[in-house]
Amino acid sequence: MKKGLLIVLSGPSGVGKGTIYSHLLKIMPDLTVSVSATTRSPRAGEKDGVQYYFLDKGEFIKKRANGEFLEWAETVGNFYGTPKAPVIEKLESGKDVLLEIDVKGAHQIKAAYPDCVTIFVLPPSEEELKKRLVGRGTETEDQVKARLELAKSELSESVLFDYRIVNDDLDRAVREVADIINKIKGERKC
Ligand code: 5GP
Repeated sequence: MKKGLLIVLSGPSGVGKGTIYSHLLKIMPDLTVSVSATTRSPRAGEKDGVQYYFLDKGEFIKKRANGEFLEWAETVGNFYGTPKAPVIEKLESGKDVLLEIDVKGAHQIKAAYPDCVTIFVLPPSEEELKKRLVGRGTETEDQVKARLELAKSELSESVLFDYRIVNDDLDRAVREVADIINKIKGERKC
């Protein structure tokens, strides 16, 4: 059976990749997703097993030592990781899997699975990224500062990705991601 396609959607925090991701699922209902594990605290309305599996540091480290993550990264003070078994299972059964992860994680996936497709979401400008991070109101001032500092170095790594899209218009950005996925799927022979 033809294996599924592994798609990595990445970019700085606040760039809108989560919004692109949820809109994409509406127009590509066959795409499957992965629920990540994290050590950060749940935000208002977030439920364990839905947005993330919320683990304490000890649990995360244990799972990491057991090789249970496909990739993992520490970003602005918290651990994030993609549970390996469900992703491999889906790919083996021919399902395409979309990961929405940070830039460090995306590099790890590309190194381990060179056939995956990596897409970097760019903000229209650094100023706009700051506006979005402040506007969503989920981080403290210090956390916004830390995320913006990290974003600067992440943006310089966008050239290492297979594709780059600018999120200045949500509908267009979603369509561009869908077009990339459809193009790759059309070109794949096995
Ligand atoms: P947030 O705390 O805003 O939900 O996520 C912070 C950052 O962690 C975002 O850039 C998000 O894409 C990234 N992230 C979420 N899940 C994972 C994961 O499983 N692995 C990695 N490497 N990054 C993740």
